[in-house]
Amino acid sequence: MLTFEAARKLILDSVSPCGVERVEILQSLGRTLAEDIVAPWNLPASDNSAMDGYAVVSADCREPGSLEVIGSIQAGGVINSVVITGCAIKIMTGARIPPGCDAVVPVEETEEQNSFVYIKEPVRKGQHIRLRGEDVREGETVIPVGTTIRAPEISMLASCGRVFVPVFRRPRVAILSTGDELVELGEPATPGKIINSNAFSLAASVREAGAEPIILGIARDNREDHRIKMREGLKADVLITSAGVSAGDYDHVRDVLEELGVDQKFWKVAMKPGGPTAFGMKDGKPVFSLPGNPVSTMVTFEIFVRPALLRMMGRQRVIRPTMKVTLAEEVRKKTGKVQFVRLLIDQDGRGFRGRSSGDQNTGILKTMLMADAMAVLPAGESLFAAGSEVDAILLREDAGMLEG
Ligand code: AMP
Ligand code: MG
Repeated sequence: MLTFEAARKLILDSVSPCGVERVEILQSLGRTLAEDIVAPWNLPASDNSAMDGYAVVSADCREPGSLEVIGSIQAGGVINSVVITGCAIKIMTGARIPPGCDAVVPVEETEEQNSFVYIKEPVRKGQHIRLRGEDVREGETVIPVGTTIRAPEISMLASCGRVFVPVFRRPRVAILSTGDELVELGEPATPGKIINSNAFSLAASVREAGAEPIILGIARDNREDHRIKMREGLKADVLITSAGVSAGDYDHVRDVLEELGVDQKFWKVAMKPGGPTAFGMKDGKPVFSLPGNPVSTMVTFEIFVRPALLRMMGRQRVIRPTMKVTLAEEVRKKTGKVQFVRLLIDQDGRGFRGRSSGDQNTGILKTMLMADAMAVLPAGESLFAAGSEVDAILLREDAGMLEG
């Protein structure tokens, strides 16, 4: 049977970025840059002062002495006349260095007397001057394609005069729940029925990943309903179905996807939860068929769908890192499949310590809410002693954060 790593590689090799759009700069936050950003000018644009003080000719100031103050320049101001020997110009931080000057003396190292300034210390040529282009050279690639845009990238984009930014488009992700037992949220759950919660957990996960969820509702357990709603779903960039993917009498997902011409790449993965997960492609669009148990749905989304959506949004880095966690108590599993075990995490000063968040049954949703991380326990082993180290994927953005 396929390992989850091999299945994920197969998925990532099948999908590609969705296309490019230009968005207003602040809308680009969290998106992936779709083109290299090339600096249209130097930054700083001209030599300018790093301090409040006096712009001087350094050759005049090898020793302490007085200079005549012939003008003043503030940030944003311009002085075009050349400053000659024996003279200084009062200058504020960020102001352009007047022509002829080649150093700035901080105000703290001077004394102003009438229209003269006394320079107390010898001056070094170039001191306290920020040079034109010292940060960025005109024509330099300042942000490469594929970069995730955060505040520092926004700062650089704005400094380069970008009002609009080319980013990869967000995939539209159709979410289809299947099952006769389902009722929509807000409807009464009569005996035997359960609320279609997967639609919302999937939509939330899609949105968290930065893509756009479209909830299609429920396909009842008959082929005709599956056919109609899956056709609708295939109009989006990605289709995710939940449940109906096992071998039960009322599981139609497999047959109908085949009928609709979806090229199925796999039907099962050696993992727990999430074994009955399927993946296929139709006209360049990925189709994920996830198992219906809410925990299995979320785990398989995390392992397979999220990386695929990130890749479709142009990301290079799509797989969350694992970290080493020391087990605070023994964990057992069956051999044969990788198991994802929900963990509570705390820090003991030497690193992360983890213990089970409780009942690991796929039907138990509560222990998923409690989990800070998911241990990835290898297929071949069954006993993980207290004190042993395991790999874990952090699930909670604030895991390990300190209260302040
Ligand atoms: P199935 O694979 O169709 O047998 O579904 C497995 C189990 O997942 C069902 O027995 C339900 O308990 C649960 N389930 C299926 N679909 C949903 C859904 N949309 N929301 C919440 N739970 C679901
Ligand atoms: Mg079902």
